[in-house]
Amino acid sequence: MNDDWLYRYKRKIIARIVIVLALSMCGAMIITIMLLRDQLIKESSGNSRHIGNAITSSLRTQMLANAPDQIQKTLDDIGADTNIGRIYILNRDGRVMYASNKRDIGKQPDRKSDASCLGCHGSTVAAPATTSLVISGDALRNSVLSSVTPQGGSFSRSVNVIRNEPACYGCHPRDIRINGKIIIDHPLESTNNLIRKIELIILVSGFFGLLLMIPLLSRLINRYIDQIILKKQELSLVYSIINNISKTIDIAELTHIVLDISHEVLSAEEIEIILPKGEGFRITTRLQNGEKVTRKKRNTDEPLAEIIERWQNGGIPDAGVSADRTEIYLPIEKGEHRLCLIVARNRTAPFAENPVALVEAVCNHFAIAFENARLYSIAITDELTGLFTVRHFRTSLDRQMESFDRYGERFALLVIDIDNFKRVNDTYGHVTGDDVLKHVAGCIAEAVASTDLAFRYGGEEFTVLLPSTDRNGAAHVGERIRAQVENSPVTLAGGIVLTTTVSIGFAVCPDDVATIKELMLQADKALYAAKHAGKNRVVSASPEN
Ligand code: GH3
Ligand code: MG
Ligand code: MG
Repeated sequence: MNDDWLYRYKRKIIARIVIVLALSMCGAMIITIMLLRDQLIKESSGNSRHIGNAITSSLRTQMLANAPDQIQKTLDDIGADTNIGRIYILNRDGRVMYASNKRDIGKQPDRKSDASCLGCHGSTVAAPATTSLVISGDALRNSVLSSVTPQGGSFSRSVNVIRNEPACYGCHPRDIRINGKIIIDHPLESTNNLIRKIELIILVSGFFGLLLMIPLLSRLINRYIDQIILKKQELSLVYSIINNISKTIDIAELTHIVLDISHEVLSAEEIEIILPKGEGFRITTRLQNGEKVTRKKRNTDEPLAEIIERWQNGGIPDAGVSADRTEIYLPIEKGEHRLCLIVARNRTAPFAENPVALVEAVCNHFAIAFENARLYSIAITDELTGLFTVRHFRTSLDRQMESFDRYGERFALLVIDIDNFKRVNDTYGHVTGDDVLKHVAGCIAEAVASTDLAFRYGGEEFTVLLPSTDRNGAAHVGERIRAQVENSPVTLAGGIVLTTTVSIGFAVCPDDVATIKELMLQADKALYAAKHAGKNRVVSASPEN
């Protein structure tokens, strides 16, 4: 299924997160800027007051010296320094006596109505004697004191009252309280510029922070999406596995399905499935080009021998990866039954972490399927010989006939009977007879291909079904079985070496017949002919063809 919706959802989530973050960042920025502005202006006003105090002290000396020219000269000097601003010295009546801008001299602002005075004198509460406050550029522009419109934003005004003290009594009468005021307007232009710069830096860094956050968020969400997709794949894989493996209880078919699933999930170059079978192993290998090869026995010197040995002895209880990560071992077990070992191999590149976890997730399902197949295999296996039972023979023959009806697939049936078996029983006893039966069954299993099916038909008679086989093929397999039995003598207890032989009759469908009953009859007739002709031979139902 397409996972695009997950990514569309991701974009929506990111957009919402960015909006929420942008709003909260804006809020935080506004609060920060307000606090900062407040603090900076406070700092600046404090500085203005200190400057005011310093200037006041220096002017006081000149006032005490009664040197008006000197006072005006000092104010002229201060007025020339644009960083300090403007200074006015007002007399007791509020008239400007000295000013850094001479055009202000003689002016008398009405403190109840002059825009620049309203900050302190605008209410009924008495104005403080000495103060420092921020006044706007507009207030100063609308004041009578401002003969030249000041540029820029706000100003910090500090007002220092000139008290009438004993030192002043030489010029001023004793009974008055104050002699005037010194007003200093200090521009906050540089502070305002600094605040604007800080505001800009915060905004720009906030904006770029958000921009940077988008890919980070995207990467983080991608990680979760990957996990969701992996879980989804896991689920659909488990579903398809249950669906596929529940379709069969045949061990060979199941092995092929598991091989396909493991190959697909692990993307491995090679997969081997090792099934325990008697003393040997049936190893199904999928090679790199996708070809499946089934072997019935393992070679003791093959590279996997050590792993198989370890697995058989319980040395691989869990899935594992080789040190160089080129081999994965997946033991499939149920209770004490070691059902199969899956070995995945990549010769060119090591495996990633996730596929192993994915296959581990389905190992349980494999185990259930293999256990069912094992129980089924027990049910269709003859206990004495290890070949398939006669009941399974009938089912398989039906299936083969169906396959012929549907696809026209030719097949052959061999009927095998041990020669002079009664004599073996009579001479050596039934127990030895059973051993000989087992031995002959082993020879038959050895001689046929993994796609052929060998059955114990009853007593000392066997049948073999050869799918997709014509007369020549059947004669060839029959001869191989005959030779295998003849050339493999059994060593009995007491060191007696016994050579047995078998007679084989065979018929081919549809060449000889087209019904199951007829086929069995024709193969039996051929067997009878083989016995009649002297035993230890292979006879076709239609020798003339
Ligand atoms: P022929 O060459 O004509 O086949 O001679 P034969 O002695 O083999 O004769 P036949 O095929 O009729 O032999 C059947 C004998 O096989 C009868 C029985 O003693 C023996 N037999 C059948 N089932 C078993 C079994 O499960 N175990 C043993 N030990 N013997 C069996
Ligand atoms: Mg017989
Ligand atoms: Mg016999």
